[in-house]
Amino acid sequence: MKKLALHWKIIIGMVLGIFFGFIMNTIDGGKGFVTNWIAPFGKIFINLLKLIAVPLILASLIKGISDLKDISKIKSMGLKTLGIYIATTLVAIVIGLSIVNTVKPGAGMSQETIEKIKEKYANDAGVADKLKKASDQRGAGPLQPLVDIFPSNIFKSFYNASMLQVIFFALFVGISLLLIDERKSKPLIDFFDSLNEVVMKMVDLIMLFAPYAVFALLANVIIAFDDTEILVKLLWYALCVVTGLAIMIGFYLILVSVYAKKSPMWFLQQISPAQLLAFSTSSSAATLPVTMERVEEHIGVDKEVSGFVLPVGATVNMDGTSLYQGIAAVFIMQVIWPEGLTFSNQLIIIATALLASIGSAAVPSAGMVMLVIVLESIGFPAELLPIGLALIFAVDRPLDMCRTVVNVTGDATVATLVAKSVGKLGNPKPKNWDDNYDKV
Ligand code: ASP
Repeated sequence: MKKLALHWKIIIGMVLGIFFGFIMNTIDGGKGFVTNWIAPFGKIFINLLKLIAVPLILASLIKGISDLKDISKIKSMGLKTLGIYIATTLVAIVIGLSIVNTVKPGAGMSQETIEKIKEKYANDAGVADKLKKASDQRGAGPLQPLVDIFPSNIFKSFYNASMLQVIFFALFVGISLLLIDERKSKPLIDFFDSLNEVVMKMVDLIMLFAPYAVFALLANVIIAFDDTEILVKLLWYALCVVTGLAIMIGFYLILVSVYAKKSPMWFLQQISPAQLLAFSTSSSAATLPVTMERVEEHIGVDKEVSGFVLPVGATVNMDGTSLYQGIAAVFIMQVIWPEGLTFSNQLIIIATALLASIGSAAVPSAGMVMLVIVLESIGFPAELLPIGLALIFAVDRPLDMCRTVVNVTGDATVATLVAKSVGKLGNPKPKNWDDNYDKV
């Protein structure tokens, strides 16, 4: 076990977790066993990753900015990052819409299946929860997301792990440090430098636990799948989403190889532990510490780039989510509201899916909550909303796992591209994971 590469260990953990989940599904009391005795280990792992996310963003961004020594560079990097983020998200939505309009997965669904799904899920607590969260989101004014970036109490932001607020604070501190006398700024810069090293080491230590944690996470996901019949009925829809996501990964690999001159296979290999965790946790936010570690130490992106690009990306750049929202919105219309399938509505979907993916939190099933907002923007009848969500609910978790992989891969790709464009793509300094085993 010691000699195996980390991603293989994680893959083995995942496969065993899936098997274990299926076996437990068939055994009396098996589900309860997984919920009580296995799932908590997955939760501990996610808690540990979330624990270090805030100090990691703070330390790596402040350290990165103070290393830049030039404020104009921050501006150009910021603009480039946002520009590429928006462009890749638009590509994702267009890919999604092209697939769903060509394949038309919703057109062939039988009335009987629709009724079955309606009966099973339209009044489900999970669907009601998504609708409630969407209505909370909608209540605020149009500029509220902008206001929300500026915290009035940074401890509250730490407490809530409000990523954009922490990023703003770190930028503010980093830029101010650049503007004061070097003698005065040095102690604080040294402090954050040291904090950054410590937190990166914490990521390493947490990752020693990853193969076991993904076993627990996946076993817990599997015990939730009990209706294989409906899953099969939704196969075409799910295949459309997965195909779109795969095309998106191909698109990233082309960008990395053409622009950053890195081999696609090498790139995938370096970031694979982050992708596998994204798949297992369905959360870009929980994966962020590992994404940062992989991109900095295994791809060679400098901290000042990754410290800014990755945390911002985890929150605002969700190409997988926007692609899914485009496909899901059109699929739902194909099934229960075909009269809404106009060209102008599809254009509105492009705009709102872009905004919705920016507004989606980097946590499991956030994309489905924001899908409600996308549907409402095209005048989708309110009384059909619970049925619409019910239609896609059964397959949402597996698709969430897949779209989170794309979200994380997109962030890593943009970090690599931006680093290349500002001359900050250096040599990777990969560590030997076994050293960590030996030391602890
Ligand atoms: N789970 C996704 C993420 O964290 C968001 C979503 O699409 O639901 O990236």
